[in-house]
Amino acid sequence: RAKETSQGAPLLFDSSMRDAALHRMKLENELQRALEQQQFEVHYQPVWRLKTEQLVGFEALVRWRHPERGLLYPAEFIELMQETHQLHSLDRWVLGHACQQFNHWQKKYPRLQRTGLSVNLSADWFDRSDALDIIMQALKAAQLPPQSLLLEITERSLLHNLDQATEILNQLRRTGIRLMMDDFGTGYSSLSHLHRLPLDVVKIDRSFISRMESDPRAEAVIEAIFSLGRSLGLKVNAEGIDSPKQIEKLRTMGCHYGQGFLLGHPLPAEQVSDFLAGKQPHISPKSS
Ligand code: C2E
Ligand code: MG
Ligand code: MG
Ligand code: MG
Repeated sequence: RAKETSQGAPLLFDSSMRDAALHRMKLENELQRALEQQQFEVHYQPVWRLKTEQLVGFEALVRWRHPERGLLYPAEFIELMQETHQLHSLDRWVLGHACQQFNHWQKKYPRLQRTGLSVNLSADWFDRSDALDIIMQALKAAQLPPQSLLLEITERSLLHNLDQATEILNQLRRTGIRLMMDDFGTGYSSLSHLHRLPLDVVKIDRSFISRMESDPRAEAVIEAIFSLGRSLGLKVNAEGIDSPKQIEKLRTMGCHYGQGFLLGHPLPAEQVSDFLAGKQPHISPKSS
């Protein structure tokens, strides 16, 4: 009678919960070690000026070279790192590492002189008072001018402590660092904050770009973002471009910058170096 419910279903439920908890604990331990043992690496996705097809820079995207599971993407570990307060350390490492790499490229390849490096920042940066110091130190250590760095933030990451976040962003902006609102259109109260933040660029979220050809409402949102960008004096970047039609349409809408699989996948530093050295032309439809 009651046997089935007390032994059947609950048992299954318990074991899957236990598996999930064990997996999480294992992952948490592995992540701690991964930071110590430098198992992370940075991949770089090219960003292009759509009008002229010139390279304008790279976005740094973190990957985890897991000793057994191979290359892991942020979706597999970022959230847990955020919850366990390790994401700030990871961001710091990515920032320092990418700045060094970018400086190296800029010195070696003059055509990168006026290009920029984008780095993603998590919410943790805005709960601390030392964000400016840490970022300036990373630039100094890499001998990179603030004008070369773009920081990508999301609306969500600002909400927790909006006043302090705004203050930090103002400080950063005064140094010459540029600021970009990432994944724009997916947050909660987009419009109310945008005009108060010292931004340079808004990046339209991939979800709108991927629906723009099939859904007139997605296109309407994109139009609205352009119009907002124009009135606030912001440049617009589109992410996740993966068809020529999307590029054409975005171009006619006056989109400044674009990135996406069609224009170049995120690549390990060695492959970007090969591309920059002219050894590997297929990072983009037209190389630079
Ligand atoms: P994001 O900053 O919006 O980065 C764009 C994501 O879209 C990247 O995924 C990129 O590989 C992917 N992508 C680019 N072009 C295309 C395309 O044409 N089609 C499709 N389907 N995807 C495309 P990735 O590298 O897996 O990163 C996911 C997210 O993880 C990033 O989203 C960012 O929020 C976060 N992230 C990555 N690196 C860092 C980091 O160093 N620190 C922090 N805090 N977050 C990071
Ligand atoms: Mg980003
Ligand atoms: Mg994005
Ligand atoms: Mg995104």
